[in-house]
Amino acid sequence: MKELLINTDEPYRVLVGRGLLRDMGQWLRAAGAPAARALIVTDTHVGPLYAQTVADALSAGDCAADIFTVPAGEEYKTPETLISICRELARLEYTRRDLVVALGGGVVGDMAGFASAVYQRGMRFVQCPTTLLSAVDASVGGKTAVDLPEGKNMIGAFHQPSLVVCDTGTFATLPPQRMSDGAAEIIKHAAIADEALFAQMRSEDWQRTPDDIVARNVAIKRSFVIGDERDQGKRQMLNFGHTIGHAVEAWSGYTLSHGQSVAIGMVMEMRAARRLGLSGVHEAPMVEALRANHLPVSTEATPEVLLRYALHDKKRQQRQISLTVLREWGKAELVSVELDDFLRFIEAGGGA
Ligand code: MG
Repeated sequence: MKELLINTDEPYRVLVGRGLLRDMGQWLRAAGAPAARALIVTDTHVGPLYAQTVADALSAGDCAADIFTVPAGEEYKTPETLISICRELARLEYTRRDLVVALGGGVVGDMAGFASAVYQRGMRFVQCPTTLLSAVDASVGGKTAVDLPEGKNMIGAFHQPSLVVCDTGTFATLPPQRMSDGAAEIIKHAAIADEALFAQMRSEDWQRTPDDIVARNVAIKRSFVIGDERDQGKRQMLNFGHTIGHAVEAWSGYTLSHGQSVAIGMVMEMRAARRLGLSGVHEAPMVEALRANHLPVSTEATPEVLLRYALHDKKRQQRQISLTVLREWGKAELVSVELDDFLRFIEAGGGA
């Protein structure tokens, strides 16, 4: 098992290893986060596979467990589902001293995390990511939210978990596409912070050592989150590929996954930065790494359409857009592009 400490205002541990869910009660006690009761929030995909295992493990550790299952899928990451979780907590008379356990991918983590941030003005929660994507990205950092019809993650809260337990054995049941989605964020982390990891991602061999890969990515994410928990500065570098990526994702009506969209976004942002003299790093190795992991590298969407979607993005700040560019592989910096120049930037990112 690998163990990392996340030194936020209230530090917490990330445990990474195969089969960890079977000993949940033990990890809670070891983390100094014992609870009398825990509501396991999961979805219709993950619940049938692992919820009972976690409930039994909690009971064995003297923590009474309830299970609440929400419908699977981003389209259910809504205020309605959030309220349903809060009402279940209320119906079962949970208090602030009890615990929420988020068991699932990023959608479940975002919603259960948000519910625990607002129920009775805040209670503790534990993240148990069951997808590669949520393990390397969303489970660390404390961002929680639900979507509105007007846009993704429009209401939410910064709320750090008390513990993250990543059982890499759960990845075995993921469809290959979901592994690729995780690979996109790993390649992102590698490009901006770890040249050796980037080299490793140029084939699929990394899948043989998931514990090591997850732990390294959590360490990278930690390095950007610590000192910038509220996303005002260096944490924004984690948005590499996401400005155009979010636009591509929205344009596709979410038929492209987040990972696929970010893959396209990274290539386009790199190409544009190079062509406009903002970065000296060529995007060819990026294209190669993404292709090796079965990710797309281009889109049919026109620059004008992408601009329209990008302008809806909440990360837009006044008249400038903040973008991450590579100084070299494994090193990144933030640059600002005038809003008036952003169409030209997107145009420069197209082609091949
Ligand atoms: Mg992302």
